[in-house]
Amino acid sequence: MNTGVILVGSGISGSLIGYFLSRLKVDFIVVDDQNQSSPSRVAAGIMHPLVFKRLTKSWRVQDFNEVVYQVYSEIEAQTGESFFNIEDYLKVLNSIEEVNNWEAKRAQSDMNELMGEVADNQNTAVKAEFGFGMVKHAGYLNTKKFLSACANQLGDRLIQHQFDYSKLVVSEDGVSYKNGELDIQAKHIIFADGPNSAHNPYFNWLPYQLVKGEVITIHAPELKLDSIVNQGVFVCPIGDDKYTVGATYDWKNLNQVPTDEGLAELEEKLQKFIQTPYTVVEHKAGIRPAVRERRPFIGKHPKHNNMWLFNGMGSKAVMMAPYWAKHFVNHMLKGETLDSEVDIQRYYSIFEENMGHAKN
Ligand SMILES: Cc1cc2nc3c(=O)[nH]c(=O)nc-3n(C[C@H](O)[C@H](O)[C@H](O)COP(=O)(O)OP(=O)(O)OC[C@H]3O[C@@H](n4cnc5c(N)ncnc54)[C@H](O)[C@@H]3O)c2cc1C
Repeated sequence: MNTGVILVGSGISGSLIGYFLSRLKVDFIVVDDQNQSSPSRVAAGIMHPLVFKRLTKSWRVQDFNEVVYQVYSEIEAQTGESFFNIEDYLKVLNSIEEVNNWEAKRAQSDMNELMGEVADNQNTAVKAEFGFGMVKHAGYLNTKKFLSACANQLGDRLIQHQFDYSKLVVSEDGVSYKNGELDIQAKHIIFADGPNSAHNPYFNWLPYQLVKGEVITIHAPELKLDSIVNQGVFVCPIGDDKYTVGATYDWKNLNQVPTDEGLAELEEKLQKFIQTPYTVVEHKAGIRPAVRERRPFIGKHPKHNNMWLFNGMGSKAVMMAPYWAKHFVNHMLKGETLDSEVDIQRYYSIFEENMGHAKN
């Protein structure tokens, strides 16, 4: 099979890259092993624009906001599916001091467009004595629906297969991959392989800082929340009286196994602020493709001109990936300058230092 681009990975990142490649009428195929514990299949799907610890804006949030709504709505229109909503997002405030801080921050002209007023709590199933700070420009992506809508668009261009990195042959003119029945020649290869990239021999020299996360789904018929609420954990309504609750952060045990400790941590935090019966109906774990300095890893391999990486979306893929996928495809195919904050060129020196040992 001959094609323009092999894209490895159809998580949130790969699906968005696929969308932008299609828009430019590029011939490509996608290889994905459909790992059900990949972070895109575990993620809660929430986006919000603030860093709550310091009550500051997230990095580059204005840039992302301009693109995020447009891209998800375009894909919704194209696929005829609905998977993205703008949501009310409420941050529980725990003291008069926190209320005052919220009001003071929100009075700043640059924060006003992201922070709403302080609202009283009307819901007896929730403990929020001092009310909520209302967050603007928050959203929810139903990742399962999104991934499946994108996969349907790809049709037979999506090949379920575990890509064996050792079977890739790279030359000046392109790449070829032969493994069993699968035999592909292409001009370019893009890896959007998420946390697995830390085991990808072509890019394992980059400073990943992977983080395991666990989430639960609860059924709570009397909770009656129609907004996302955050109080150390988030509680996100997903319909039918069900809510996603998350998430934990574990930098040590990098596996996809849900644990008793994770469950206990989430329930302890949850019970601090909801006072209504619930049952846990699902418990999942995955690994976030987080990276040092929290800036994505995007760009060209230091040695191979036709090999590309799109990774490092950390815990903010829903908000960041549309912007960076568009930017990346425009760089790769139209030669637009790649933003130096995300360009992996900033780590080429690590690659060069390791060249003595590295095969790739
Ligand atoms: C518990 C948890 C909660 C989260 N909540 C949120 C949230 O609320 N909001 C948010 O924005 N982000 C959240 N995240 C982070 C988000 O899930 C990730 O940043 C995002 O999913 C990364 O997407 P990706 O496409 O880059 O990687 P992945 O989702 O890992 O996609 C990579 C794809 O490539 C495939 N693949 C990998 N290697 C190979 C191979 N060798 N051969 C074939 N296929 C391969 C995988 O199966 C997968 O389908 C959360 C993560 C976790 C773990």
